[in-house]
Amino acid sequence: MAKTSVISGFYKLSPKERLAIVKDIACLTDEEAALLENTGALSMDTVDHMAENVIGVFPEPLGLAVNFQINGKDYLIPMATEEPSVIAAACYAAKMVRDGGGFHTSSTAPVMIGQVQVVGLKDAKHAKNQVLAAKADILKKANDQDPVLNSFGGGAKDLDAKIIDTTMGQMLIVELYVDCRDAMGANAVNTMAEAVAPLIERLTSGQVYLRIISNLATKRLAKAWCTVPKEALGGEAVVDGIAYASAFAAADPYRAATHNKGAMNGIIAVVLATGNDHRAIEAGAHAYAALKGPYTSISKWTKNVNGDLEGVIELPMAVGLIGGAVKTHPVARVAMKILGVKSANEFAEVLAAVGLAQNLGALRALANEGIQRGHMSLHARNIAITAGAKDELVDLVAERMVKERKVRVDRAKEILDELTKRQ
Ligand code: NAD
Repeated sequence: MAKTSVISGFYKLSPKERLAIVKDIACLTDEEAALLENTGALSMDTVDHMAENVIGVFPEPLGLAVNFQINGKDYLIPMATEEPSVIAAACYAAKMVRDGGGFHTSSTAPVMIGQVQVVGLKDAKHAKNQVLAAKADILKKANDQDPVLNSFGGGAKDLDAKIIDTTMGQMLIVELYVDCRDAMGANAVNTMAEAVAPLIERLTSGQVYLRIISNLATKRLAKAWCTVPKEALGGEAVVDGIAYASAFAAADPYRAATHNKGAMNGIIAVVLATGNDHRAIEAGAHAYAALKGPYTSISKWTKNVNGDLEGVIELPMAVGLIGGAVKTHPVARVAMKILGVKSANEFAEVLAAVGLAQNLGALRALANEGIQRGHMSLHARNIAITAGAKDELVDLVAERMVKERKVRVDRAKEILDELTKRQ
């Protein structure tokens, strides 16, 4: 078959039929095709309904972070990640924080922002006043869309409007503030934004284009903080190193991006494991980091008067216990059960604590022996597997490479050859 990416009616086929076509085009072996069809805990029918043009399932390791104590309560935290050392670092950091009394957290109400973009206005100020004067009608129209959300105490609670100058002239942006309770809320908010658009057009005599949630969820923030005894970290020099690392990240966007990535390593792994929308969380975190000026760090670490380390993180956290894939993905449902959170707010706060722990784990290693020692020993296992090692040979090959400080596939193959000849 010719290698064209135009496959007419591909979406109408069954996953099996689609896979047969791909197998042919990409010259997959029977074994390779079978790997995609191995759906594990999911049925092909389930995944076919979750996304489009499905040809199989992409599995990820699911691990458990232990040692977490948040507001005096213990949590087992499921994490889905392909990156070695993330879960180990979270566990290690949570243990150090536990020595200092665990994590403390807070969060705002679960309010998301829905934006309605109005263009073609003769008098933007007048249009804004018209919208604000009709607030009650607009909110009623929005709330009529979701009686279920209202029944849980959520719904559109308020609105505002702002005039922005753009390359295509002035625009009026109407913002709905929707309490999403235990939902992430994108579908709920988008439905409301679409429903109020005709009324807003009538009120402003303008034209509405976009009607969509904002992922910069500044009204839905989660915060976590902790104190880590210097003894748990390995001394005051490590505390100083972490404080210096934090100051570096606060002042330099190049460092801040990696600092924040470290925190997101943990947060995204939990978000993924629970079937939540990790793109929404990434987008919100990084936009929040750049909200008040140049891009900066979402967490801060300082030394207190006792010489111990104090850390705090704050970021938007739009996650849900229902909606999206949270209830349709059977493994996500089990992950949620293991996590044992009772509300989206509690979940958001756990995620903030995980982000702080993950950030601490990375900074402690960076400020101490450097990140490579711990990271490479885990990475070496992946390299050993890539080189063809199986079972107990994975650890044997990995250990040798780390000892030699040569973590490379070519070296892994040599060691593997040597060890298999010996056997
Ligand atoms: P959803 O529409 O599946 O579920 C939310 C609905 O569940 C609510 O509107 C409410 O009617 C009902 N509900 C039942 N019990 C509830 C409770 N206890 N609390 C609150 N609501 C309750 O999902 P959603 O959360 O509105 O949207 C999430 C999905 O939207 C995700 O899959 C996400 O990927 C997707 N999405 C995201 C974006 C974005 O982030 N930009 C855009 C579009 C879609």
